[in-house]
Amino acid sequence: MDLIPQPKSKFLKVKCRLCDNEMIIFNHAKSKVVCNSSDCSHLIAEPAGGKAFIDAEIIEELK
Ligand SMILES: [Zn+2]
Repeated sequence: MDLIPQPKSKFLKVKCRLCDNEMIIFNHAKSKVVCNSSDCSHLIAEPAGGKAFIDAEIIEELK
């Protein structure tokens, strides 16, 4: 098994602050991520110099 150092990127399970919709996002998102609920378009994450700025409740970090 290779032990390759992983970049600090990971997937996050987040919950929208506005509608409580849960979704999986990438913490180094390269483009804006909006809530995937059809009647909510809250900006969940946007790129901020490599790491994404996340405006949502982080429920869990996925390995
Ligand atoms: Zn939402």
